[in-house]
Amino acid sequence: MAVLPIVEIPDPRLRLVSKPVEQVDDAVRALIADLTDTMYAAKGIGLAAIQVGVDRRVLVIDLQEGEDEGGRPIRDPHAYVNPEVVEVSEELSSYNEGCLSIPEQYADVERPARARVRWLDERGEQHEEWLEGLLATCMQHEIDHLNGVLFIDHVSRLKRDMVLKKLAKMRRAA
Ligand code: ZN
Repeated sequence: MAVLPIVEIPDPRLRLVSKPVEQVDDAVRALIADLTDTMYAAKGIGLAAIQVGVDRRVLVIDLQEGEDEGGRPIRDPHAYVNPEVVEVSEELSSYNEGCLSIPEQYADVERPARARVRWLDERGEQHEEWLEGLLATCMQHEIDHLNGVLFIDHVSRLKRDMVLKKLAKMRRAA
C-alpha cells in the first residue's frame, strides 16, 4: 500500500478513456489499496485510477459522513471496478463539486439526482444498485474521470475560465 502522487490538470492523462479490467486479481486489489490510501491522504471522498496515472476502470469512494466519539471521520471505503451508469433519474440535483486533480477549486454542477450503477467489487462480484444523494453525485463525477471528463466540463465556459484562472493564480502564489 502506498500514497501516490495525484495527477493534476492540465496533464493530458486526465483526458484518456480508461480501459476495462478483465479480471479482478491481486494486482487490481493492490491498485485499490493504493487508491484508498491516496484518497485519505489527500482528504478526498473519491478517487479514480487515472488520477494516479493508471488508465484502468477502477475507482474508490468513501464519503466519510459519520464521526466516531473522538470526532474523527469513520472510514468505510468501497471499490468499484468497471462501474457503469445504466439508468438515471430525470430529476437533477446540484452540488458544489471539487476535484483532487483541480485542487481547491469548486463549482456547482448539475447532474441526475439518482443513478443506477453496475460494478464489480474487489472480489469480482457484480452489483447493481440505485444510488442517490452525495453518493450518486460522487459516483457520476468519478465515472466521468474514467471517460476523460472533468467537472469543469459540465459548467459554463465563463465559470470554467474563472476556475482555471483562480487555479493558475494559486499555483503562482505557492
Ligand atoms: Zn475528480
